[in-house]
Amino acid sequence: MLNLICQGCGRAVPLDASAPWRCPSAGDGGDHVLAAPPYPNSAAGPESNPFLRYRRAMSAWHLAQQHGLGDADYTRLVRDLDERVAAVDGVGFAQTPFGRSLALQQSAAVPGPIYVKDETAAPGGSHKARHLMGLALFAQVQQRVGLLSAELPRLAIASCGNAALAAAVIARAWQRSLDVFIPPDANPRVVARLQALGAQVAICQRQPGVAGDPCYHAFLQAVANGALPFCCQGSDNGLTIEGGQTLAFELAEQMAGADVRGGRLFVQVGGGALASSVWQGLAQVVPAQQRPRLHPVQTRGAFPLRRAWLALAVEVAQTLGDPALLDRARALTPTGDPQQDQVFAKDLQVHLASPAGQSALAQTLATAASERARFMWPWEEAPHSVAHGILDDETYDWLALLRGTLESGGFPVVASEEQLERAHAQGRAAGYRADPTGTSGFAGLLVLAEAGVLAAAEPAVVLFTGVER
Ligand SMILES: [Zn+2]
Repeated sequence: MLNLICQGCGRAVPLDASAPWRCPSAGDGGDHVLAAPPYPNSAAGPESNPFLRYRRAMSAWHLAQQHGLGDADYTRLVRDLDERVAAVDGVGFAQTPFGRSLALQQSAAVPGPIYVKDETAAPGGSHKARHLMGLALFAQVQQRVGLLSAELPRLAIASCGNAALAAAVIARAWQRSLDVFIPPDANPRVVARLQALGAQVAICQRQPGVAGDPCYHAFLQAVANGALPFCCQGSDNGLTIEGGQTLAFELAEQMAGADVRGGRLFVQVGGGALASSVWQGLAQVVPAQQRPRLHPVQTRGAFPLRRAWLALAVEVAQTLGDPALLDRARALTPTGDPQQDQVFAKDLQVHLASPAGQSALAQTLATAASERARFMWPWEEAPHSVAHGILDDETYDWLALLRGTLESGGFPVVASEEQLERAHAQGRAAGYRADPTGTSGFAGLLVLAEAGVLAAAEPAVVLFTGVER
């Protein structure tokens, strides 16, 4: 019997429960995200399609095995859905490109090599379809083994861009009805494509005095009314992290192939599922001393993750009982001074490597999970940025992400509009088709480059995800 375990409260939910994607204790003010423990014997296969190559690392495959659906049956199920995705969107799932960019290194004027993992030619034009393909496969297995009615309820997602497009592509391939909740200022080209794919689009206005994203509130209402959370927030569907981890498994193989060890990894953060998936995936397959420092990247428009990191930094320094570290934690600034952030992050990393440090971190994270609102709450104003795809009011998948950030010796970076625009222009000049959201991880690298904190020969990895439309 396999269980998913809540990363917040520790509750176990059997994999063959009817809705094993949300912790039954969710809604009590604590942080709850269901996750499978890393599956043993999940070695990569020879296929290029990540949902075949890494199938043994997915709960959907294990659920299938548990209920007598063999590997050949599961493989056929993946191939069938992938062929239909290709028919809908012109491209199916395959390993996405990874390579060094001399042009970016030159334009960013950094001493070390820059490597790009490019997701822009993937189904839906971003990494988002990975999350949703994982959810579709899991639900299909549930249907095949009789855990979910063939008359599946509608699917629901809140998004204004890439997540909605990816959801619409997968839902169309799967022949399911999808409700998409979008803001009034969504890109008209995106809305037209959603409608062409058969999605039901609902526009959600901000209500005065109501905090948080109105699209997200409408999504929650749809889920309460029985819709399947077909989304990219682990808090609403923990299994969404698994599909995202395929990006990390690919990245780990590609980094090893290019002999890239350590260095830094810059990942754009909106809702946080991408960075959370990537980090948890890397942690499964890359030994700790070979992992890069993790830098989540947000915009000056909204940086709820950095705000949570600041609070967590003080909390963990207090728990460690080190007055000098606590002084440094309290001196950290809202949008960051990379020199100061780096000194703190490296010092803390040394503490956390000891058994006492590990125990202080575990204690702090448990506090943060049970008292979520002290660390993570909706951004107060309606945020604006050229990188509009990462303007989520809250970082839904924040706790696992901050754990990885702290343990890796990295820190969250906040990019200015000028840096975001420059990153986009330099990405385009280097031949990449990513939009300003898609290049915002690279903008984080520019922030550190300007502050002079990058060491010579230190490799940097950025993800480009979200094609220019
Ligand atoms: Zn829980």
